[in-house]
Amino acid sequence: MTSRSVNASLAVSIKWSLLAAVLFLLTILAGVSVTAQTRLAALGETVNQLGREHLSQVRQLGEISLAMTRIRLTAVRVALTSAADQRGDAEALLQRRLFEFDARLTEHQRAIAEDASAALLFQRFVARWKDYLAIQARLLDPALAEDRDAREQLINTATFAAFNAVVDASNDGVRLANLKADEAVASADRERAAFSLVLLLVNGLSIAVGLVTLAFVVREVSLPIRRMTEAMEAIAKGDLQTEIPYAERRNELGLMARALAIFRRSLLENERLSAATRTLSELSEWLQSAKSEPELYGMISDVLARLMPECRGALYIYANSRDTLDLVTSWNGEERALAMHPDDCWSLRRGHPYRHGSSEVEFRCAHVGDDTAEDYCCIPILARGEMLGLIHLEHAHPAGETAAERKGRFADHQRLGVACAEHVSVAIANVKLREELRDQSVRDPLTGLNNRRYLLDAARREFERAERSGAPVALLSLDVDHFKQFNDNHGHDAGDAVLRAVAECLQGLGDEAIPCRPGGEEFTVVLPGLGLEGAALRAEELRRRIEAAAVRHAGGVLPRVTVSIGVAAHPGQGRAVADVMKAADEALYAAKRKGRNRVELASVRDAAREPGHNPDPVFGLVA
Ligand code: GH3
Ligand code: MG
Ligand code: MG
Repeated sequence: MTSRSVNASLAVSIKWSLLAAVLFLLTILAGVSVTAQTRLAALGETVNQLGREHLSQVRQLGEISLAMTRIRLTAVRVALTSAADQRGDAEALLQRRLFEFDARLTEHQRAIAEDASAALLFQRFVARWKDYLAIQARLLDPALAEDRDAREQLINTATFAAFNAVVDASNDGVRLANLKADEAVASADRERAAFSLVLLLVNGLSIAVGLVTLAFVVREVSLPIRRMTEAMEAIAKGDLQTEIPYAERRNELGLMARALAIFRRSLLENERLSAATRTLSELSEWLQSAKSEPELYGMISDVLARLMPECRGALYIYANSRDTLDLVTSWNGEERALAMHPDDCWSLRRGHPYRHGSSEVEFRCAHVGDDTAEDYCCIPILARGEMLGLIHLEHAHPAGETAAERKGRFADHQRLGVACAEHVSVAIANVKLREELRDQSVRDPLTGLNNRRYLLDAARREFERAERSGAPVALLSLDVDHFKQFNDNHGHDAGDAVLRAVAECLQGLGDEAIPCRPGGEEFTVVLPGLGLEGAALRAEELRRRIEAAAVRHAGGVLPRVTVSIGVAAHPGQGRAVADVMKAADEALYAAKRKGRNRVELASVRDAAREPGHNPDPVFGLVA
């Protein structure tokens, strides 16, 4: 996943899905709330305005009614006044009042011009007023002053009725104004109730959104972060088996969980590697204590199999001829050819580890078969600049391993393999050196037979075994006859050739026999499992073979040599090596005395009765 899409995921899952949605909702709610508040304030203002308009309308109508009444009273006063000057004053007052009244009517008509129903009522009122004024004009007739009855009738009946009609019309206007004001107030009240309800709902919704957001944040953010933190702490404290939650999620929690899982895997890998390093240093210690090559190879295959359980492997070691490498061990089910040619491996040809399966340009080694995995590596084993052999590793992929993990793990295996190869090379060199040294310390360089030290060890070992099993062990003591003279006659080199030829005859005595050259022209053979008589037969055979051997030297054949042989055996001639050796030597001297080139058997004796007998039953040698 790219960093861009990770950012998008962050924005979408928390910022957009939570913050944007909540902000959007809250903005809408705030808008609705502000609108409702504004509308409520406007409604209040409307009601006030209505009140003001209604009051002024009602006041105007009241003033019109009052002015009407004054006009009627003034008209009545004109009708009742007979004195000319008084009547003139009253008529002037009436004219003024009528003029003022007209002005008032015009003002009122302007005020209600917008209101059609009020204008209609006003027209009716004006018509009634005109009717009344027509009747009132009769009242102002000066001739009426003389007719008292007619005047009273006009005042109390005709004008009264017309005036009442005008007053009714005026009251209709007041009633209409009241009605309209009441209706407007009631409608404003209804609207105010509706907006109050909207405000209540908006507030309730805001609280609900707040609570839902809080719950969401707690459930989807706080709790997961706490669980994730706990998992991180546990892993940091070394509990690598801790379960990592939310790994399946597609948001940043999932990203965190997967990153944590990768971190844990690398910790596990590190732990494995440090365990491997510990095992390697232990391995090195063990390898140093290996006594022989087979034991060493067994240890190597055991440890490498456990160090890299996903890897099959094999160890090849150069044969002495150095033209092939022999398979000495393999592990984890690796089946390979028993030998290979050095040229068949790229690592041996190039002199450094070769890893196949990791590069664009690569070639398979000729020694790997079709069944070998793509991911394999060959690591040469070098010691002091000399190639000793080869470690071959094949990586098997565990199920579910990704390409990157596979690459990383195989690279680890190669590193581990190289580290192992270093330890192994030192160990192999050590074992080979030790075997060489041991060889030198127990082998006679001229004949290749075992020397006196080996003879004593082998005799003692065989005598101990014979003590346990009850089987006999025989010793042959050989000496070349007149060898000094032979040397004198044919030279020391010819003498050496004869000694090698005698040694070859001794080696033909069979696998069980242990031929040795303790020194000079003397030889001793340990014959496990043979008693005195059996050994005497073998000695006679040997004597004849040596006597018959033709030794080539310096282009010619040397004169034949003979040997004298003394035979003794455990337990007949004693239980201690020294006793039996002494008995064999004595038999040899007897053979010399009796004319040489013959086999002489030691006589049976009771060693325990002899003075100076060594109590050690097996060794008995005086140091
Ligand atoms: P005998 O029949 O009584 O054994 O006579 P001998 O001459 O064999 O006995 P002696 O002990 O007098 O001589 C042993 C000779 O063996 C002396 C020495 O020169 C010779 N010899 C000992 N070691 C070697 C060796 O490594 N090479 C050769 N060429 N001669 C050796
Ligand atoms: Mg001798
Ligand atoms: Mg001799």
